[in-house]
Amino acid sequence: MNPFISKTKIVATLGPASFSPAVQRRLMAAGVDGFRLNLSHGDFEEHAGVIVSLRKISAEMGRPVAIIVDLPGPKMRLGKVPKPITVRRGAKVRFVPEGIARPGPGIFLPHEISGLAQGLRSGSIIFVGDGMMQFKVKSIQGEIVETEALVAGVVRSNKGVNIPGYNAPAGILTEEDKRGIAFAIKHKADVICISFVGGPQDMLAARALLPKTGKYRPCLLAKIERRQAVTHLDGILAVSDAVMVARGDLGIELPIEEIPGLQKDIIHRANMAAKPVIVATQMLLSMVDNARPTRAEVTDVANAILDGADAIMFSEETAIGHDPAAVVRIAKKIAHQTERRLVKSGGVALEVRAAIRSEDSIDDLISSATCDILENRTIDLALTPTASGTTARRIARMRPRPWIVAVTENQTVRNILAISYGVFPIGVPSVDLSDLDLADLLRGAGLIRSGTRRLVITSGTQCGVAGTTNSLKIIDVS
Ligand code: PEP
Repeated sequence: MNPFISKTKIVATLGPASFSPAVQRRLMAAGVDGFRLNLSHGDFEEHAGVIVSLRKISAEMGRPVAIIVDLPGPKMRLGKVPKPITVRRGAKVRFVPEGIARPGPGIFLPHEISGLAQGLRSGSIIFVGDGMMQFKVKSIQGEIVETEALVAGVVRSNKGVNIPGYNAPAGILTEEDKRGIAFAIKHKADVICISFVGGPQDMLAARALLPKTGKYRPCLLAKIERRQAVTHLDGILAVSDAVMVARGDLGIELPIEEIPGLQKDIIHRANMAAKPVIVATQMLLSMVDNARPTRAEVTDVANAILDGADAIMFSEETAIGHDPAAVVRIAKKIAHQTERRLVKSGGVALEVRAAIRSEDSIDDLISSATCDILENRTIDLALTPTASGTTARRIARMRPRPWIVAVTENQTVRNILAISYGVFPIGVPSVDLSDLDLADLLRGAGLIRSGTRRLVITSGTQCGVAGTTNSLKIIDVS
């Protein structure tokens, strides 16, 4: 695979279809930049084995990839239903906490959601099983929630529950999530995704569990999938390292027709904050069974890129689909075509550039000056020696035409940069390198090819220290 086919990054969720090292190798060869382990499924032992396998293949193939651990979050679920219950439209259905005696005849659905009755009001809608079943709350009596079924269907044990506008009790990190964070730290995962974030306090609570010393600093990603997260987006962005437009739950928690607009807003604000943004769910879903995606899906992937997404993520497509690597190959082709358009028109990046130009921090001045220089056709690459990855991300958010090569001593930083648009990360023992050494390094990595003329290099007062980048130079390598 030519890594320069497209700058949009690809994240693949692993599952039964992709747990084997052979498939992981094919996925990496096809161009996957980040692998998501969904802790809602499987056990720690299984996930630990996958991490070892991915690190091995990544080293053998010389391809940095981000290992992304996605925590389950406070997933709301029904309890045990002795046998499937058929519900007709208009039926009266009562939700009761599991373990409470049935208060009379009729249909009762046990649930495991603490404080459910207190968080609801008359008129609230309860979605069950990915929104396939819907119940309207009629009244609340103590712990018993009386509802009317809005659609007919069958309810089974342990189905997931979504309640738009439901304010979960404060603090979203469950004991399972805390164990998940400890697991991620133990195995040095590069990215940790926090599910069902409600506000900045949830991200701060997760951050408090991360190591405070040492070189290992994982990227903390906020999944935007609830109305509260949309409301508090700027606060969340300020304390997160990346975000995901988690359209699966977002499309139930909010009216589904709001998703396209929300996607654009979330991406734009993440771009402005120079935080990587991943667009997830149902991107090429029909490829779970089919060899080709639908026209609508292809257009959806292209639009996410035009909106400014750093990465697009596959779930079922690569976890249970019939040909995970084919999904990635098609995504790369769509990205390649779409990015040509992005280069010609400037797309949404023009807005970001204009806004950044009016800022006066040194970081913003350096990143917009780099971007301006990169407009010149004699400049073929940007080179950013980096301790934290920030400078590379700040330049990348303006979507310049050339690639940004980020050189770092820190392996986790290198892997996290793999999911930033247009960034090619390289790990080195020391970033304290002369211009000649840097040019040789790029030549060795096949990045300086015949025809390459000039590079722009960012540097700082203190080599390898985050936040000190303050100068630019142009070197001739022709
Ligand atoms: C989503 O809701 O879109 C998502 C990616 O999260 P999960 O797969 O955990 O539902």
